[in-house]
Amino acid sequence: MQYVKLNTNESPFPPSPAVIRAAEAEAERLNLYCDPECTELRQRAAALFGVGPENLLPVNGSDEILYFAFLAFCDENMPLAFPDISYGFYPVYADFLHIPSVIIPLREDFSIDPADYIGLHKNIIIANPNAPTGISLSAAQVEEIVRSNPDNVVIIDEAYVDFGGESCVPLIHRYDNLLVTQTFSKSRSLAGGRLGFGIACEALIRDLNAVKYSVNPYNVNRMTQAAGAAAIDDNAYYMENCVTIAKNRDDTAEALRSMGFRVLPSCSNFLFAESPDITGEDLYLSLKKRGVLVRHFRKERIENFVRITVGTREQMDLLLKNIRAILHERGDIK
Ligand SMILES: *Cc1c(COP(=O)(O)O)cnc(C)c1O
Repeated sequence: MQYVKLNTNESPFPPSPAVIRAAEAEAERLNLYCDPECTELRQRAAALFGVGPENLLPVNGSDEILYFAFLAFCDENMPLAFPDISYGFYPVYADFLHIPSVIIPLREDFSIDPADYIGLHKNIIIANPNAPTGISLSAAQVEEIVRSNPDNVVIIDEAYVDFGGESCVPLIHRYDNLLVTQTFSKSRSLAGGRLGFGIACEALIRDLNAVKYSVNPYNVNRMTQAAGAAAIDDNAYYMENCVTIAKNRDDTAEALRSMGFRVLPSCSNFLFAESPDITGEDLYLSLKKRGVLVRHFRKERIENFVRITVGTREQMDLLLKNIRAILHERGDIK
């Protein structure tokens, strides 16, 4: 079966033609090692993010910068705090590296209470917007957390920021304990290319580079460096796609609400929703039978939800048509 893939938050849009050409042209030079410093890519990215090249570490997907940061800043005696409901890789990396986790529950409405992180005196990682809830903190709220934990590193994972969040990148100039991570996987159609960035003051980037050069100096391959630089040149194309996704998201949320769903307020490219009429697991399985993949988490507090990646208008129409049919079959909608 050809599935409609709404389960891993990829972009439904292809890379821009210039990105494809850049990657293809670079294929001819795959016999040569790539630039370990990613000089050209860092220069373009510095302009994009409004920072200096010395504030940037390009990585093999932003998962890699998380791994580098956990290695650089945490250990058995330096625990890491994060929300009970967040990106699944945080506890995986923490356990793998024997880093004690301090799990902080989200509020009843699934938002983060910034007060829980003020003056915590622990390393902290927060996805903003959070996943899988899609709910966002303001940059001012994040700033308070960063300011009140001056002797610890605060990592802000901005994988979804381009869909409606407020970036904390400008704060790196004022706080030497802030690491912001971004990825080209979601908003810039490069999930398969594997490109992310660590963005921080020069000293933090230097520490992270020490890890990188001990683990994997050629971490961003030639084709991806070229594709990433070309994607930055074509930023307008990607930002337009983000606007389309945000519009499709809001329309889909409204349609789900009209079918009785509770939909959390999302600033990302996915929706987190639960129905009073069907369990999360049953909805996930019924959609799968009909060729639509969404994500279901067998996890306390959120087991009745599904996470739906926002795709094209056509994909969303197909999703809604199938949900309507599933509820109709069960007699929940006339
Ligand atoms: C997708 C995602 C990432 C990592 O994506 P990469 O493809 O490794 O860049 C990081 N954090 C969150 C919250 C994500 O959803």
